[in-house]
Amino acid sequence: MDKLSEPDKRAFSDLPEIRYVKGIGPKRAEIFKTLGVHSVRDLLYFFPRRYEDRSRFTSIASAPPGEPVTCRGEILEVRFRPIRRMPLVEVLFGDASGTLRAVFFNQPYLKKTFEAGQHVIFHGKVENYEGRLQITNPEFEIVEEGDEDSAHVGRIVPVYPLTEGLFQRSLRVVLKDAVEIHLLRAVTDPLPPSLRSELDLVPLDRAVQNMHFPASFEDLAAARKRIVFDEFFDFFLRLMIRMKKLRTRLKAPRITAGPERFGEFRSTLPFPLTSSQEKALADIARDLATEIPMNRLLQGDVGSGKTVVAVFAFFLAAKAGYQSAFLIPTEILAEQHFRTISRFLAPLNVRVELLTKSVDADHRGRITADLKRGDLPVLVGTHAVLQEDVAFSNLGLVAIDEQHKFGVHQRNHLLKRTPRPHQLVMTATPIPRTLGLTVYADLDISVMRDMPAGRKPVKTYWITRAKQPEVFRHVAERLAKGEQAYIVFPLIEESEKADLLAAKKEFDRLKKSVFPGFKIGLVHGKLDRPERESIMRAFGRGEIRVLVATSVIEVGVDQPNATVMIIENAERFGLAQLHQLRGRIGRGEIESECFLFGEPSTEEGKKRLRLLTKLTDGFLIAEEDLKLRGQGDLLGTRQSGVPLFRVADLLTDEAMLILARDRARTIVDALDLDALKNPGHWIHKYLGERNVSLPHSS
Ligand code: ADP
Ligand code: MG
Repeated sequence: MDKLSEPDKRAFSDLPEIRYVKGIGPKRAEIFKTLGVHSVRDLLYFFPRRYEDRSRFTSIASAPPGEPVTCRGEILEVRFRPIRRMPLVEVLFGDASGTLRAVFFNQPYLKKTFEAGQHVIFHGKVENYEGRLQITNPEFEIVEEGDEDSAHVGRIVPVYPLTEGLFQRSLRVVLKDAVEIHLLRAVTDPLPPSLRSELDLVPLDRAVQNMHFPASFEDLAAARKRIVFDEFFDFFLRLMIRMKKLRTRLKAPRITAGPERFGEFRSTLPFPLTSSQEKALADIARDLATEIPMNRLLQGDVGSGKTVVAVFAFFLAAKAGYQSAFLIPTEILAEQHFRTISRFLAPLNVRVELLTKSVDADHRGRITADLKRGDLPVLVGTHAVLQEDVAFSNLGLVAIDEQHKFGVHQRNHLLKRTPRPHQLVMTATPIPRTLGLTVYADLDISVMRDMPAGRKPVKTYWITRAKQPEVFRHVAERLAKGEQAYIVFPLIEESEKADLLAAKKEFDRLKKSVFPGFKIGLVHGKLDRPERESIMRAFGRGEIRVLVATSVIEVGVDQPNATVMIIENAERFGLAQLHQLRGRIGRGEIESECFLFGEPSTEEGKKRLRLLTKLTDGFLIAEEDLKLRGQGDLLGTRQSGVPLFRVADLLTDEAMLILARDRARTIVDALDLDALKNPGHWIHKYLGERNVSLPHSS
């Protein structure tokens, strides 16, 4: 933590250690630590998971089935049924309007918790079970004497996330006391009042108090708004300060280009550029012309034509006398890119070479020698480019395809030199806007939303298994016309062995009885690389006509002649993954078709497949995907790099995110970095308050 000014230090030292806080003690203090609560301030920021309006209860008679309700009543009867596999505790309770059964499965100890005559609050969904209304495994709280004017009843009540050893009621009391005793000293609002009133934000102490014990839902909304703003603002402030420091410290080569360069480039292309491509070209030319290192993301769906945009950047760099490196995650893709890029660069008189670990020693020797002498302007390659003896003489630009396939270390390897090369990263993984605003917050983004003209969207069908023979006949007809097909099987890790067996068996069947007239190949993750690549190449040459694959088909494999895809057990793939897979087809002149076989057991699963038959825009799909899965899922392991916001929700708080980002930007743009050395500066206090050190430049 940064040094605090003297008065602050005194204020903080007045606060007790967490174990001396009223109601906590050494045992609970340890539990709190596992939840990340180390100080009184952390405790005050330990916010409820939800709220219950206990100023009014739903009467039992009017509780609508299927919706969460909070009822209050008196226990009339407690019954225990020791069914062996699923012991049941049944609690019959009633209010003035009627009675309701609460049913608890697998919690036999509850029979000792409840007693007839107790007053109790239940929260849960009322269901109709065999004609009777009941509430299953509800959250409950037994009302005690004196509760009426307490933290627990007669108000909007906080419900905290629990863990072993922490109980709702005691937690509520601890927080109520902590807010009363410590709030004013633990929380000082670092935000200037002028900014607060301009953005209509409540003072921090009031916000924190109302996050726990709001008098009304309006107060709660205002409190939440302030906390959400703080979370986003804090994130962007740190990030932008760090970026500003980097930008003033690092200098990149100035690569300028007049309009004639654009004309020269366009005149060599076999097609007109899309407007997204034109815009991306302009973005890049503008970035390269300044000494601030470019850090741009080219984000576009599969087939949107990102490669040619990167080629333009290589061309500008080469004409200005600088070298470019293009990093590509796999060998097959690197070869493919190399072929395309050579075609684009040849008429522009810019030489390009390919470096992978398969390049023989002689050729490799020539490449590295030319690079070192500055005789080779563009190098395309895999991780092989990152080896120590590959030395550039004046590297000005680094482009990276599917940048998430490279580690941070690998990505930075080529950048750490003076002057610092410009960077262009490319991704075909569309992510929803709000996520992009945080995950890619340190990048400038060129979005490629429109597709090259004439591209026909893939027709997608969701088919039941019974129709399979019909689909296979149809596919065979297309194969007979010279086209090619993919058949994809999902492999899920836990059951991979069984799945692989199933895929192999189906492969044999397809080969012998379904497509006997056509050459058919199988690729899966258990094949070693050379074998897999030789099959992929045979498919690329059109020798193999049907490729049976687990999801290992490389992102970016470009085989315009492949026009049909069948996806088996499609319900086992995620929406985004299905879209990526489907992107392997629809790359040529002929209209492509995708057949999804799948029998999802959930409504959500059905929705996914239905969406895919309707949508082809990867960005829309990503947004729908996020809505279906919710942000909780994103914060898991799946999407790394998603910053954690505890209260803010990327799905619903977009407006706040943008407000906070724009505010942070205005402030940091105008900020004199030297001012940060002054601990009295409100930004310093703002970031310091959060108990995390100020960002240091990397
Ligand atoms: P991706 O964005 O998936 O990397 P590519 O750069 O591989 O897309 O482009 C896909 C195909 O579209 C390539 O064959 C490319 O030559 C072609 N292409 C790119 N831009 C255009 C355009 N403006 N008009 C027509 N075809 C284009
Ligand atoms: Mg590509």
